Amino acid sequence: MTLSTVPSYDGERIPDRDGRAVVLGAGVAGLLAARVLADAFEAVTVIERDPLPDVAEPRRGVPQGNHVHVLLEGGRAAIDDLCPGFSDDVTASGGVITSGTEFRIYVQGDTLRTDHQSLHLATRALYEHTVRRRVASLEGVEMRSGCQFVDYVADGESTAVEGVTIRNRESDRERLVADLVVDATGRTSRTPEWLETHGYDRPPVDEVEIDIGYASTFVERPPDDRRGVSLEAEAPRTRGAFLVPVEGDRWLVNLHGVHGDHPPTDPDGFEAFAATLPFPIVSEILSDHPMTDGDVAFYPFPSNRRYRYEKLDRFPDGLVVVGDAIASFNPVNGQGMSVAALEALLLHHALVKTGRDGLELEFFDDAAAVVDVAWNLSVGGDLAFSQTEGELPRGAAAYDWYVNRLIRRAHTDVRLADVLWSVFMLERPPSVLFRPRVVWRAFGPIPGRGEKRIRQATDP
Ligand SMILES: Cc1cc2nc3c(=O)[nH]c(=O)nc-3n(C[C@H](O)[C@H](O)[C@H](O)COP(=O)(O)OP(=O)(O)OC[C@H]3O[C@@H](n4cnc5c(N)ncnc54)[C@H](O)[C@@H]3O)c2cc1C
Repeated sequence: MTLSTVPSYDGERIPDRDGRAVVLGAGVAGLLAARVLADAFEAVTVIERDPLPDVAEPRRGVPQGNHVHVLLEGGRAAIDDLCPGFSDDVTASGGVITSGTEFRIYVQGDTLRTDHQSLHLATRALYEHTVRRRVASLEGVEMRSGCQFVDYVADGESTAVEGVTIRNRESDRERLVADLVVDATGRTSRTPEWLETHGYDRPPVDEVEIDIGYASTFVERPPDDRRGVSLEAEAPRTRGAFLVPVEGDRWLVNLHGVHGDHPPTDPDGFEAFAATLPFPIVSEILSDHPMTDGDVAFYPFPSNRRYRYEKLDRFPDGLVVVGDAIASFNPVNGQGMSVAALEALLLHHALVKTGRDGLELEFFDDAAAVVDVAWNLSVGGDLAFSQTEGELPRGAAAYDWYVNRLIRRAHTDVRLADVLWSVFMLERPPSVLFRPRVVWRAFGPIPGRGEKRIRQATDP
């Protein structure tokens, strides 16, 4: 499932608000879940261990926030649907809209012809702050920052979660009763362990190791220079980079390397690593423009990991898991926030369809369809490295061969580039790549070339 196959938000379809929901974690997934729950619950309490700043700045609880966060167009549209005006707010706060000729995607040896596609770019902190401001202002929503989730509170037989225990700002234990608890605590989610100790099966896990190291720094940017580039590591090249214009007249420059080929964090080593990349723009930017403060942040990301909650036969009532707590992907694909946004839309639709009874399994089934698309794109690229352990799903080798052919054609074919872009951006499902017109463009004559040959042949 992608943006085009998830119906739009319709708040009118949830008639009543009553009871209380608790959301654990005020990251992008938790905030968007709270946004949706505010339609159905009189009180929505968001529990976050970090202090939540009034401005857009990185937080300790999301160390990945120091690194490039590209918001895919499918995710941006989903957030705009849930929070109208979100994109405009990001832009008004300094976020940058790039055109297709400014932001280039380097893949399979050349750039995609994405000439008329745009992106709304900003730091993760600005995206999150913009969503947080809107969600915090909704009726019934309370943000409890500086509070740590400690445990779920269950009924006697553990058939239902009925609330949570938290350690509050005064370091006291406090019990919150809830009709629904949403786990949005990210990759460190403890729900799988909790299920096991309370007589449930642990959700099966799919894991594909990639051992990627992310190193990122800010560089000064002339205000009208909106160049950007995506040059992700692709087999067999273990190194890659992103150059992303963001608010504050800066570029966020990221270098990364998979399977242990991690970039250094000292400025000289950082520049030397950039110079080894096949596309010189990142290296040029680093030599022509100073770093804002010389700090290079590092984040190691071991593996794509996916908990298969949808495969469980039994699950407690009153508990739902969202975002990275379900699945987290190699960050080079820029999918996490967008998957969280699409999941929030699905949570809304599950509330409309089933109400609170049976919400959990309905939601997990739907969310799995969104995760499937992102997961296959992500691990498909990672399994192309000979160092990556794991088996390609059946048919994946043929699929990859076909997509690589499309990509090479899309270096010169703007229409093919548009279709590929819409799939990578989680706007349209990968099945569009198999429409007859697309297959024809993949295997038929290269547009333009035939005409030239004919003209040459008929030249006197
Ligand atoms: C290096 C890197 C780069 C990335 N780049 C991109 C990108 O380009 N585009 C993109 O879309 N995604 C990207 N992602 C993924 C993205 O960060 C997440 O997928 C997305 O933010 C959704 O995460 P989440 O809200 O589920 O979890 P998180 O963002 O991890 O948020 C979890 C929240 O829960 C809180 N929390 C945790 N435990 C507790 C507790 N016990 N009590 C209270 N609070 C708690 C944390 O403080 C945090 O605020 C990247 C990830 C990494 C690691």
